[in-house]
Amino acid sequence: MAGLQQVAVPLTGFEAPLSEIEQTIQTNVRKFAQTVMEPLGVKLDRMKAAAAIAPDSPYWQIFPEFAKLGLPLEALLQMPDGERGRLIPMIFEELGAGDGGLAISLGASMLPWLIIYATGKTALLERYPEGSRIGCWGITELDHGSDTLDFGRMCAQPGSDYGRPNCVVRPDGDAFVVEGQKSAWVSNGTVAQLCLLYAAFDDGSGEHKHCVVLVPLDAKGVSRGKPLEKMGQRALPQGEIFFDKVRVPADHLLAGTGRPYDQALCAVLCEANAMMGSVWIGAARRAYELALDYAHQRKQGGVPIIEHQNVRYRLFHMMRKVEAARALNHRVHLFNATAPAAALQGSIATKITSTQTALEVASDAIQIFGGNGVACEYPLEKLMRDARASMIEDGCNEMLAIKGGTLLIDSVRIRERSK
Ligand SMILES: Cc1cc2nc3c(=O)[nH]c(=O)nc-3n(C[C@H](O)[C@H](O)[C@H](O)COP(=O)(O)OP(=O)(O)OC[C@H]3O[C@@H](n4cnc5c(N)ncnc54)[C@H](O)[C@@H]3O)c2cc1C
Repeated sequence: MAGLQQVAVPLTGFEAPLSEIEQTIQTNVRKFAQTVMEPLGVKLDRMKAAAAIAPDSPYWQIFPEFAKLGLPLEALLQMPDGERGRLIPMIFEELGAGDGGLAISLGASMLPWLIIYATGKTALLERYPEGSRIGCWGITELDHGSDTLDFGRMCAQPGSDYGRPNCVVRPDGDAFVVEGQKSAWVSNGTVAQLCLLYAAFDDGSGEHKHCVVLVPLDAKGVSRGKPLEKMGQRALPQGEIFFDKVRVPADHLLAGTGRPYDQALCAVLCEANAMMGSVWIGAARRAYELALDYAHQRKQGGVPIIEHQNVRYRLFHMMRKVEAARALNHRVHLFNATAPAAALQGSIATKITSTQTALEVASDAIQIFGGNGVACEYPLEKLMRDARASMIEDGCNEMLAIKGGTLLIDSVRIRERSK
């Protein structure tokens, strides 16, 4: 390497200098991710799903510890748009580098408040101050997974029938009644205390309608399913929520049927997919960091393995992929924060790119670790299991891509050409 000037770059790659406040927040969140989230995620990964949410489980420390960072959604939303658009991806990348499953648990918990703020129903904050309860987003159902995320039925086969919903909200005097269940995949479903519920709305007209209601999960008639055992993101508690004639006051309706519902679904998908984009860059970055470090330590063929051409070739492509995924994620966050309306196709693009990158980079890191890569005492096999689940979470990547592609269609142009 004689004569070659090596320029050191920070963990987060080729970024322009951060402001003082960005640096402080990044440092604090990184410390929390490294000292609290990562060891906690490893512990929870090895526990049975029921034990991981038992009263004595270490899981419960994640919310009070995160609260100590002093990053409430309300404060983030009040920041100037450009600053918020830079800061949010940085925060979620650090959380994802700590533990993907716990990062999603923290993110999902914020969603009820995100939509309270987005719909302007802030009177509900008196009853449910932000952060006072663990939140969740209940949308998918036993018989309706991808279908529930496909507002406007963009991905459905023409002429196909939605079928019977598994969860229905009905008006009843001055309240609403919720009946049915949500899928076992609701993130935080087994631990949440406040549900942002997206469900079918039956007003007796026989038409296919939907609405969004806030459901306190200590209400009479709410019960939970068995904690779900799964291959990855095991630190993220999941399980069904059952509703047996649960009464919800009328002011808990956040979005009514039709356009308000579609807008509320688009809002949550735009945020959740962009947030997923940041979290899984964090996981990909962690896999790359670990592999880079290992390649300097492990000696084979008489030298640290990074001196073998194939190893440094692989590491370079890992770094390149993480960097490219991050660049897209930052652009999408900044666009969504500063444009008159967030672009769902951008959020989908970053979600797919980051989750795919996390899986590929984790797999490459396993190869660099050799046999140790697949051993449970090393961190890589967990990272890969976590990343695999992310390609289904918040919408299967294929279905999201079809939806993103549909949003590229200029229907006015098509109509004009067919005249
Ligand atoms: C880790 C994790 C966290 C999650 N968190 C939540 C949560 O917080 N809240 C919540 O409500 N749900 C959550 N989910 C559920 C998740 O949104 C669904 O699993 C996902 O939308 C897919 O639904 P499904 O599992 O029923 O698969 P299906 O919809 O049955 O899809 C099966 C396969 O068919 C394909 N397919 C389906 N429909 C179409 C179509 N129209 N066009 C083309 N291909 C199609 C899919 O791409 C997929 O490959 C989570 C899931 C995971 C794995």
